[in-house]
Amino acid sequence: MEADKSAAPIPRPLSLANEVYEAIFSQLMALKIAPGARITVDNLSRELGVSQTPIREALGRLEGEGLVNKTHLIGFSAAPQISVRQFANLYELRLLLEPHAAREAVARLTDKNLAALTEAAGVMGRRAKSGDERARYSQFARQDAVFHDMIVQTAGNDLIRDTLAHQHVHFHIFRLMFHSRVTAEALEEHEAIIAAFEARDGQAAEQAMRAHIERSRDRLLPVFE
Ligand SMILES: [Zn+2]
Repeated sequence: MEADKSAAPIPRPLSLANEVYEAIFSQLMALKIAPGARITVDNLSRELGVSQTPIREALGRLEGEGLVNKTHLIGFSAAPQISVRQFANLYELRLLLEPHAAREAVARLTDKNLAALTEAAGVMGRRAKSGDERARYSQFARQDAVFHDMIVQTAGNDLIRDTLAHQHVHFHIFRLMFHSRVTAEALEEHEAIIAAFEARDGQAAEQAMRAHIERSRDRLLPVFE
């Protein structure tokens, strides 16, 4: 367990900004704010009991993450759900890049990398046991993004990393369906990836990553039927 580092005071405005951001992020990920729906700063301000400033800040940050759109004179809205075509394109891209990156990551793996990756996988398990379901789901989506990014970072090709990061893949796919099965199964698949990393087996890592992405695609595909 982490030692209690929270004794150091967090500047109140920063903490508030983050809390507001997390609250809106959770609502978007768990579809409480529906894809395409208008987002009214006034309403959120009232609902969350905070001024408009942190709300606008959070919406700006979410816009950068592809979850919120801002239209001139109309204001903010939740990004529309991705189309079946965009979904297929995203998974094609992932299948081309991520299994390869997993194999490369094994070749460059240090003990420090491995510890960080294992920690990223472990955090998901721990967090899954606490908090309300909506918060857990959005935390898992973010943690999944961190885990996958860490692998491509270890692989060492910045172009591959940037290409995947700019797609905000995990935020879009987790928003397709709000279901605990998504997290439980993904966690098992992550364990298989970690096992291949621990064994320093590049081929197994490549295969485990491909299997994880293909299963993730198959879990979510029914959303479009
Ligand atoms: Zn994953």
